[in-house]
Amino acid sequence: MNDILYNGKSKNVFPGPDKDSLIIRYKDTATAFNGEKKEELKGKGKINAAISNLIFTFLQEKGIKTHFIKEIDETSILVRKADIILVELIVRNTAAGSFSKKYGISEGIELKNTVLEFSLKSDSLGDPMINISQITAIGIAERKELSLMIDMAEKINILLTDLFLKAEIRLIDFKLEFGRCGNEIVLCDEISPDSCRLWDLQTGDKMDKDRFRRDLGNVMEGYGKVLDRLKRII
Ligand code: 5GP
Repeated sequence: MNDILYNGKSKNVFPGPDKDSLIIRYKDTATAFNGEKKEELKGKGKINAAISNLIFTFLQEKGIKTHFIKEIDETSILVRKADIILVELIVRNTAAGSFSKKYGISEGIELKNTVLEFSLKSDSLGDPMINISQITAIGIAERKELSLMIDMAEKINILLTDLFLKAEIRLIDFKLEFGRCGNEIVLCDEISPDSCRLWDLQTGDKMDKDRFRRDLGNVMEGYGKVLDRLKRII
């Protein structure tokens, strides 16, 4: 796999065996604050790939269309080539992170309804929040595509909240990415402790990337626990 197409912060992308597929390889690199904080965490690529593969397979079985085709090896997957829609969709069940900071709501406060936020996928601009009329005005996506993404995100939230609860984990919030594949909108990227906030249901301990962002230590132990618990219930 020499002819790398894209060298990302936590994953590399290579050409697939045919024109409609790609190979994604997870890296051990952890980054935060738009790449300002960066470290190699041995084994992260393998654990995130395993978690995300379990979740994408679970979602596909529940009728969510995704880019995932199959696992190639411990850190590599084969995916459908998609035209990535350049917005992230953040789903929040509980106040935390930038939501708590922006609105002055203590972390851990249960939200009265699910919050959905779009942000522009742009490292140079720091992923600014963007609303639907701004997204359509710039031409990043059409309103009907955004409606479909919202429907899918709401379904995914219900499925994953329940799945993680069975694993004794609270799904606080998470980030989704989507792409166009033929005439379909499919879930892309990954769902892992890098892209979700996951708190132990009993102790409230953080088991996600906040352990890295906030220098809480034992980052890989947290990720490893998530994988072990998911394996027990899926
Ligand atoms: P916040 O806006 O509070 O920083 O993040 C909300 C949720 O979305 C968290 O679970 C966080 O990990 C995830 N998230 C937000 N932006 C990104 C991003 O650029 N990359 C990844 N991997 N996750 C993100």
